[in-house]
Amino acid sequence: MSENRVYNFSAGPAVLPEEVLREAAADMMNYKGCGMSVMEMSHRSKMFDDIIKTAEADIRELIGIPENYKVLFLQGGASQQFAAIPMNLMKNKKAGYIVTGQWAKKAYQEAKLYGEAVELASSADQTFSYIPDCSDLPITDDMDYVYICENNTIYGTKFKTLPNTKGKNLISDVSSCFLSEPVDITKYAIMYGGVQKNVGPAGMVIDIIREDLITDDVLPCTPTMLKFKTQADNDSLYNTPPCYTIYICGLVFKWLKANGGLAAMKERNEKKAALLYDFLDNSKMFRGTVRKEDRSLMNVPFVTGNDELDQKFVAESKAAGLENLKGHRTVGGMRASIYNAMPYEGVQKLVDFMEDFEKKNG
Ligand SMILES: *Cc1c(COP(=O)(O)O)cnc(C)c1O
Repeated sequence: MSENRVYNFSAGPAVLPEEVLREAAADMMNYKGCGMSVMEMSHRSKMFDDIIKTAEADIRELIGIPENYKVLFLQGGASQQFAAIPMNLMKNKKAGYIVTGQWAKKAYQEAKLYGEAVELASSADQTFSYIPDCSDLPITDDMDYVYICENNTIYGTKFKTLPNTKGKNLISDVSSCFLSEPVDITKYAIMYGGVQKNVGPAGMVIDIIREDLITDDVLPCTPTMLKFKTQADNDSLYNTPPCYTIYICGLVFKWLKANGGLAAMKERNEKKAALLYDFLDNSKMFRGTVRKEDRSLMNVPFVTGNDELDQKFVAESKAAGLENLKGHRTVGGMRASIYNAMPYEGVQKLVDFMEDFEKKNG
């Protein structure tokens, strides 16, 4: 770590790889000899065409996305997709939602504006601290799709096995686990994620959509911009896209490739998470809040059980260069988000700090 930077455990916008920030800084004034910054160039220029095409090719290679899926770079963040998905897919005006946290709930509530959204399962009864059994859900034939939030950023749970959708299309919000491990994209109809958690700067969502779902048959009154077909027909360039964000995401894809791709990321992420979870499991002061088998590799909430001690921990950890460890306002306690770009040393430093804090305050 360098230049007086902190270890940033924010849930999002979140830590980016230092190599990427350095490269962006070097490119800032004069991108590849063109005499201007990426922020200043036309989205119709040859230079930007290379940037967006390369970014797409690289994410395709990283995930292994087959030809029959489109990759779209869209504005409005993940939250805009809460509306876009029902608008584009609710042919029967009915869909099933698995409610495992606030983001899933927001998507579920938004879908109700456009049709019948059915809560297939929920973990609200235990403050979303686990993933419900999704092996035999009350899915009916007339449902257009089944929706999940795969990694629950706020509560720190993750689907380790995908739900049995009984043949229905699976739609997954992967905002906070995007590119953190290998995935079989063919199990999904749409996988999408806001990029500011694990991929890039805020303000963009990447949708990976199976082509047969991109049609003109959408709900009446679907805005032109929210129609997948508009965006797909125009290769994400219907209007001016978030050019700089696409460029930074492209640098992150290159960084992921240079660091061994998603299999290597998974290994790294498991090592980092194990360090923290093992500490939590052995601590007398701190404990994790999530059922063990559902623990996220990316977001790790924990508490002392004493609000004053939690506050003291957050304040003192910040002073020690460990930032943004305060838990979400609805959960309290602490949360460490340890995305791809968080180095092992950052988690080691956090664990050392926790050990020391426990000794002093135990
Ligand atoms: C942060 C987050 C969102 C919201 O993302 P925006 O880009 O702010 O709309 C949605 N889903 C999940 C899982 C998130 O973590």
